[in-house]
Amino acid sequence: MKILIVNCGSSSVKYQLFQLPDNFCLAKGMVSRIGMSGAVLTHKPHDRPEVTISSEILDHTSAIEHVIAILLSPNHGVIKNRDEIAAVGHRVVHGGEQFTASCLVTPEIMLELRKLIELAPLHNPHNIRGINATLQNLPGIPNVAVFDTAFHHRMPEYAFIYPLPYILYRKYRIRRYGFHGMNHHYVSKRAAEMLGTTRDKIKMITCHLGNGASMTAVDKGISVDTTMGFTPLEGLMMGTRCGDIDPAIILHMMGKEELSLHEANTMLNKHSGLVGVSGVSSDMREIIEEMNNGTKSAKLAFDIYCYRVKKYLGAYAAAMGGLDCIVFSAGIGENSAVVRQACVSGMEFMGVELDKGLNEAAKNKESVISTAASKVKVVVVPANEELVIAMDTAEIINKK
Ligand code: AMP
Repeated sequence: MKILIVNCGSSSVKYQLFQLPDNFCLAKGMVSRIGMSGAVLTHKPHDRPEVTISSEILDHTSAIEHVIAILLSPNHGVIKNRDEIAAVGHRVVHGGEQFTASCLVTPEIMLELRKLIELAPLHNPHNIRGINATLQNLPGIPNVAVFDTAFHHRMPEYAFIYPLPYILYRKYRIRRYGFHGMNHHYVSKRAAEMLGTTRDKIKMITCHLGNGASMTAVDKGISVDTTMGFTPLEGLMMGTRCGDIDPAIILHMMGKEELSLHEANTMLNKHSGLVGVSGVSSDMREIIEEMNNGTKSAKLAFDIYCYRVKKYLGAYAAAMGGLDCIVFSAGIGENSAVVRQACVSGMEFMGVELDKGLNEAAKNKESVISTAASKVKVVVVPANEELVIAMDTAEIINKK
């Protein structure tokens, strides 16, 4: 069965075509700069070199049209007929409280998704655009929505309610939702398998450390707490987002600098985090390079980043009353031995002991990086959100 995965951003569409149940990626690519000058499609079939095609791509419908055309193209394609695509799986960032699992897209579901725009105005509109674009380009082929929030839907109330007037939850559904759920779900399952056990027997903390970053306490397979909250701004320090700060700072700064809502939002989401502190870059590779060159602000950004991961490791171990496994994933978590080392340094008292050689050798591949004696196992699992979407989509289609 071939499943097309679509992940739409404001000006981009990422896609992968999977062959299931082999979990094999036949082709993947991305359309970028949609609606701007210099729009390009990069496409990589599994058995041929990557191609880049420049074209006028005005909107998401046109982007999906280009994707289908290249998947069918005699030179770069991997299918002969569009009917070979059994279904399309879409990443949808916010599922609110109602979407606790992936679901088949119907007109009623589209209505519900539209209502959720209020909760995720930066993400859901693009996801909805992507679904509409595939409905237009691939009529008759089922679409499945897979939610970033769904894995977190079993958090206890004391973890998801903010200590604000309770009426705000009743009126506006203001609560912790959590994000990156597909990856926290995937890597916790994989890590347990790698350790020869199952998730329902252990306590884990999964660290998704990419440009966006979040950690989740996974107790017996259930997300019991997670660092991102009502929006993806809360929690860890990120590439350009601040993560946890005193909320009074925002009010203070809005007064002092006469910031509008929009400007305050931009400061917190785009000009903070690694780039804000270092003044160097939002990219951890460049932060590490500058730190090694002696740039103090880069070292400070690095130290804050790793310190905050460590604080949550301690907090979540306490919240779960123990810890068996720490999982590192996503761009930084998978690739950076120095970040992993710094995040768990000094945690031997909790039974966390990294094997230096294994840690340094683990780069973008599944690896156990703790010593044999370490009470808490430390594991690297590359992120694979696309595969989770493909598997969920296939499961729903098979049940139809
Ligand atoms: P993602 O959002 O998962 O694609 O992750 C992007 C982040 O991973 C960026 O901050 C990159 O700098 C970081 N990253 C990728 N490779 C490395 C590496 N070898 N060392 C440190 N950071 C890396």
